[in-house]
Order: sequence, then structure tokens, then C-alpha cells
Amino acid sequence: MKRIGLIGGMTWESTLEYYRIINERIKADLGGFHSGRILMDSLDFDDIEKCQSRGAWDESADILADSAERLEKAGADLLLICTNTMHKVAGAVAARVRVPLLHIVDVTAERILRAGLKTVGLLGTRFTMEQDFYKGRLEDKFGLTVLVPDAEGRRVVDGVIYNELTFGVISPESRRQYVRTIEGLAERGAEGVILGCTEIPLLVRQEDVRIPVFDTTRIHAEAAVEAALRES
Ligand code: GLU
Repeated sequence: MKRIGLIGGMTWESTLEYYRIINERIKADLGGFHSGRILMDSLDFDDIEKCQSRGAWDESADILADSAERLEKAGADLLLICTNTMHKVAGAVAARVRVPLLHIVDVTAERILRAGLKTVGLLGTRFTMEQDFYKGRLEDKFGLTVLVPDAEGRRVVDGVIYNELTFGVISPESRRQYVRTIEGLAERGAEGVILGCTEIPLLVRQEDVRIPVFDTTRIHAEAAVEAALRES
């Protein structure tokens, strides 16, 4: 079994989910006493959020790349950046290490294509919903049509992430707002919806909505297990 390196803490609420899902999956696949070989470097999200709001992406890329180097030195065989948003700097992080970085967009897109869907809604931070590193990658690399909420909808979705979910606050009213937003995307033609922020699955679950949800935390963590158990 390979050693999975987690660049975590963005936020720790969802890093806990990665840790849990990886271990549950390994246990289901291997049985017995098995659990995951995991190394985690949990960052201070305050440093990351400050970079995001200043637009200091190069600075945040350095913080994450330093983390990747620490994990590689400690013996990680593959790396995960445990947040969708910070995949904005995935290229810079991958360039500083030799071990592979499992990209959250790629594993999510593969799952969507395998399910036979072509048009999907996307919820996440404003960066994820609006910028090319995420929405653009789904469209250009995988040929998906990606629908995002209108400007007001994006403001609400982003606000719930930074004012509630990153602090562990789960509000029934915000859940209703998200469900309404997802229904709006479905009416516009979305066949499924990407929960493109690793904390959103703590708020919205498959049973809350009619169309298939793609939980990026679970998909990313399960892809890590698959890679860790693969020969070679
Ligand atoms: N965990 C969130 C995400 O998946 C947001 C926190 C962050 O900005 O990294 O995008």
C-alpha cells in the first residue's frame, strides 16, 4: 500500500472527512485490521485565507509547495491538496515535487463522464465557480458543459462557505438556499451537480436533491485509495 500525503487544514473540518473516508475505504477494500498509510500536513487556514483575499496566489503557492516538499521528504508516495479552491496553484505545487499530485478536477470529471453526464452544475467558492483553473479545466480538458449560479447565487454560495462552513456551522436555512440553487441549475439543464468545495458535503447530501451530486471530498479521497492500492 502506498503512503498518501494530505495537504490539509483548508479547512480542518473537511480534512477530517478525508481522513475518515480514506480509512473507511481501505477497511472496506482490504478488510481485517487494515487502515490507511497517511501522512498529513495541516496548514493554518488563516494564512491561506489572507492570501486568497489579497489575491496573493504566488505566496499561497509557496506555502502549499513547502508542505508538499515536507510530505515528500517524510515518505509520501502521492499527494492530495484537500481543497478545491487551492487547486488554483496545483501546477506550482506539482512542479516542486517528484511524487504525483492527484488533481481534484480530473478525478471528479472522470466520475461524471463515467456516469454518462455532459452538463453539470458547479457550486464552490467564487474562485472555483468563476475561474479557469476549475470551471475551465472541466470544460476544456473534459468537454463538459458547466453551469454556475447567477452573480447573486454565487455571492450566497461563496458567503455560506466562508462565513459558516469553514467555521463548522451547518445551518438549515443555508441548506435550503443551496437546495434552491441546485434546483435552479437543474431547471437550466444541469444533469448533476458538483459539490466543488470540500465542506459543502457537510451541508448538502444526495437525499436533499433530485439530481446526482458529485461529492468532491469523497471522490478525491476514494481516488487516493485506488491509487494507493494500485500495483506499481
Ligand atoms: N475547502 C474549500 C474548497 O474546497 C474552501 C476553503 C478554501 O478556500 O480552500 O474550496
